[in-house]
Amino acid sequence: MIVKTHGVVLRYWPYSNTSRIVSWLTPDYGRINTLIKGAQRPRSPFLGQFDLFYTCELLFYTRDRSDLHIARECYPQNNRKWLRESYRATALASYYADMIYRFSPAGAASPALFDLLNRHLDCLQTPEIRPAYLFWYELKLMELLGFNPGFQQCFRCHAAINPRCPPHFFSFAEGGMICPSCAERDHVETESITPDVLASLLAWQRTNSPQAVRACRHTPRQLGHIEKALGSFIRHHLESPIESRDIALNILRLPPCAAS
Ligand SMILES: [Zn+2]
Repeated sequence: MIVKTHGVVLRYWPYSNTSRIVSWLTPDYGRINTLIKGAQRPRSPFLGQFDLFYTCELLFYTRDRSDLHIARECYPQNNRKWLRESYRATALASYYADMIYRFSPAGAASPALFDLLNRHLDCLQTPEIRPAYLFWYELKLMELLGFNPGFQQCFRCHAAINPRCPPHFFSFAEGGMICPSCAERDHVETESITPDVLASLLAWQRTNSPQAVRACRHTPRQLGHIEKALGSFIRHHLESPIESRDIALNILRLPPCAAS
């Protein structure tokens, strides 16, 4: 059966000298792999039609007994050329796509994930790429994958957490805040989170506005704390290690003139 959908190119690799396998995130079929026969031949109709982070219109033949479908046609709708003009943007886009490739369910309709990836790739069209974008994306992605860290109430007794009233404790194993009473009573292993960091995490969880994320300024201490806290949470619940995260964060730490 031939079907038509849209897809973001997550990665591609050789199948033969001239053919490529392309992994896409689509709204209708989730993450899928397609074989593009003869993609590298000089007269291939696919030449220039797909590349990393492109959003394309895609026609493909589904194959019931294989998870490798056959691409028939694809046309770029958004080639995001700015992602090829900035190392910072490329590093973040690579991390975004890598997380989707690793953790999104294969073959299951994922319109919300597709929308999230498109919006966050488009947000990288700015000269001021900040680590906050990465952390914001992580929180939104965790929510859609069902691992949303709970910052608003105690994971055990459900008491409301007031961000302005420290101390605050977070359990990576349980995936949520633990109030001081529960932490002491149950001897839960926790990390302390400062009120300013907790306020940032809550704000990113709630907002869909890149302008709001861009407007927040953080000190290196705050960013280090957030990087460690979210990194520990992700490693605990998904997989360890995620090299593309470390690469993206290392590139974002370079001075802008060295990695623009
Ligand atoms: Zn509690």
